[in-house]
Amino acid sequence: MHLIRRLLFTAGCLLFGLLVSTVTSPPAGHPVPVRGLLRDTHPLLGSSVEGLWTFSWAVFDHPLLFGVIAAVLTVPWLVAVLVSALPRRVNKDPQRLFTTDQRRYGATRAGDRCEMESIFFTRCRRPGEHGDHWFPHSLGGGTVMDNFVWACARCNTSKGARIPTWWETSRLEWRRRRYFTPDQTTRPTRRARAG
Ligand SMILES: [Zn+2]
Repeated sequence: MHLIRRLLFTAGCLLFGLLVSTVTSPPAGHPVPVRGLLRDTHPLLGSSVEGLWTFSWAVFDHPLLFGVIAAVLTVPWLVAVLVSALPRRVNKDPQRLFTTDQRRYGATRAGDRCEMESIFFTRCRRPGEHGDHWFPHSLGGGTVMDNFVWACARCNTSKGARIPTWWETSRLEWRRRRYFTPDQTTRPTRRARAG
């Protein structure tokens, strides 16, 4: 699922780049090679190659500008990767498993349906089966309702023991706004103890 999502994201970025570059015209002095032939073969092929051609020349002509854009897009990701690689001491919650009452409450709160994400940012359609820590217990996530998600077996397995990103947590929060009551906390917290 992660691979499909990543491929879709990459394809989307490429398509967006292509769309942006096709509305600009090739730089003067660098005409598109075999333009007529490409356009005759297929208009889409023609415009795609012209778009790539234009974009390549734009990068070549403004290396500093595109370097800065690439850096701005990459640096936060690099920092996040480095920070997550740092060793840290984990304060684990002494309570490892959710109690029966916690699971029953969490399942009701979720309408007995899995709370995880399916494809295209939609909510998984399978019924939930497991009470799961949103922030893994092994990494300091508390065994508290604020850190509880109701998940089907498949989502529970594919989730793995890693800390969800801010963006993943936000998406869970947005999904939950549709079915949580106003007195329930939609955004999971990582604290080890209730209080
Ligand atoms: Zn699921």
